[in-house]
Amino acid sequence: MKVILPDGNELALADGATGAEAAAAIGPGLAKAALAVTLDGQIQDLAAPLRDGAAFGVVTGKSDEALDLIRHDAAHVLASAVIDLYPGTKVSIGPSIENGFYYDFDFPEGITISEDDLPAIEDRMREHIKAAESFERSDIPVAEALERFKALGEDYKVELIEDLIINESVETVSLYRNGEFTDLCRGPHTPATDRIKAIALQSVAGAYWRGDSTRKMLTRIYGTAFLSQKELDAHLELLEEARARDHRRLGTQLNLFRFSEVSPGSAFWLPRGTQLFNSLVELSREMGAPRGYQEVKTPQLYDAELWRTSGHWDKYRENMFLTESEDRPMGLKPMNCPGHAHLYGSQQWSYRDLPVRYSEPGLLHRNEPSGTLHGLLRVRHFCQDDAHIFCTEDQIQSEVASCLEFAFATYRLFGLEPSLELSTRPDQRIGDDATWDRAESALREALDQEGHPYTVNEGDGAFYGPKIDLHITDSLGRSWQLGTVQLDYSMPERFDLAYTGADNAEHRPVMIHRALMGSYERFIGILIEHYAGVFPFWFAPIQIAVLPVADRHLDYAKEVAACLAESGLRADIDERTESVGRKIRDAEISKAPVMLIVGDREAEGRSVSVRERADGDLGDEKLDALVARLSAKAANRDA
Ligand SMILES: [Zn+2]
Ligand SMILES: [Zn+2]
Repeated sequence: MKVILPDGNELALADGATGAEAAAAIGPGLAKAALAVTLDGQIQDLAAPLRDGAAFGVVTGKSDEALDLIRHDAAHVLASAVIDLYPGTKVSIGPSIENGFYYDFDFPEGITISEDDLPAIEDRMREHIKAAESFERSDIPVAEALERFKALGEDYKVELIEDLIINESVETVSLYRNGEFTDLCRGPHTPATDRIKAIALQSVAGAYWRGDSTRKMLTRIYGTAFLSQKELDAHLELLEEARARDHRRLGTQLNLFRFSEVSPGSAFWLPRGTQLFNSLVELSREMGAPRGYQEVKTPQLYDAELWRTSGHWDKYRENMFLTESEDRPMGLKPMNCPGHAHLYGSQQWSYRDLPVRYSEPGLLHRNEPSGTLHGLLRVRHFCQDDAHIFCTEDQIQSEVASCLEFAFATYRLFGLEPSLELSTRPDQRIGDDATWDRAESALREALDQEGHPYTVNEGDGAFYGPKIDLHITDSLGRSWQLGTVQLDYSMPERFDLAYTGADNAEHRPVMIHRALMGSYERFIGILIEHYAGVFPFWFAPIQIAVLPVADRHLDYAKEVAACLAESGLRADIDERTESVGRKIRDAEISKAPVMLIVGDREAEGRSVSVRERADGDLGDEKLDALVARLSAKAANRDA
């Protein structure tokens, strides 16, 4: 028999050869590094026989599949360790997940596991790893498997097998054994436990059996595994840093916002958070005006008729908050587009008027399931830096190029460099191929015109048009999608939008949806984590902390703060009767970029003693000079 190697060459093998034998035939180094193989793209055990003529690949530590594989191994090792330490524990399921793995256990009566128990379990896991127990697969008839797990009292496994018999009519099931522990498992696994190079158990949580709240609550242990201790350490360090930067935690600590069960998924913005929010809205306005955007205000609540026209009533109703008035069903807007399309449609347009660029920091509501809500990153009530451009087909390229320029200029203020992704026509779509050809090439040309490299996501466009998504990478290396620029041929059709062309005939405009920051809420959440709450001077909610040395300096401190406020700077006086050392420490915790210390000498000389977060002590500065310097810094949006 033969298999096809990734380079297209054929590898001849004895009939019934396994993946391990094929890897060895290629080279001893590869045989040693092999964790599993792929056969026509399907991953399988090294020990499993190959199929004649199949495409063959070897999975090593360098392969994309490697981490998933060893994390699944680690889940079995976790179960082995738990059974060693807590005899009588029943096992259920233990998959690999993004960034790690878990296993759900039913501990014997009277035993509760907490995070304090994890180090001992980890130690035991390391013994199993060191012992290099091989993972041995056996395929046995279901009757035998049932008998076996019943005898062991493994009720959950029995239930899983019974379901496999009913739902998938299986006649055999596969078991994997390492050491004393045998699990019901589809596989695949690496050859032995020592392929796991580094593990860490991370947390304990309750989880209902099969996610069903009427069933028993099991104990879920989460962990992660890597192919080297170095990679594990780097991962844990990143998690620690992310935890410290968690925007929900910093949002409370810095008094930016609160969340409350009285309105799930909706931020209550405190004055400092509102300052951040408003300054982003201002930024959008300030940058949008010279780029030809006109701000509009459209209603919050619309008759169902508008949502039928836009298609939301059929496609998006579950995500909308609905109500009624005088027997008319109505819905809160989850998007601004239908309102803007309606507004455009209520006027007469000539080709000379286009493009029309309507922007609106419109308040939106989406009925997201409560379980998916996450701080500012996933909310029900939010506001987008939204705009809709109505233009002719000829104008698409320059309008999209201008949207990209706007996006880059915005992100650059926060030191963020976007990467771009073009999504092209999906299988399910409206419009003819010629229109899609023109639309996609207009987007490509806009990208080329601005000189931006981009990746192409074939078939990932919306059904109504192609789009460009803008992603940024934050200071922790995490990627976020922020902006989007989408062409839309459908909405103008649905709303029967028109303009009069130079030929005096009616034409249909194209609609471009664009949001650059995405939602202000989410963008602020990302910025809090990106900056760890230490915002640039121009953006910081409190830019300057004025710290009087003693109570007798309070009057002068107020004078200083008034001068700053007059120039549009945001200062806060620490009026408490505390030592100046304490005030400096607290101002540092509040992450104010600039601290001004005022005592006798400063009051007398109409100066301040300046301490900047980034540059440390700057010494004495005259009040006038300071105000001028900081005003310029804020206006220039210098860091
Ligand atoms: Zn398994
Ligand atoms: Zn839109």
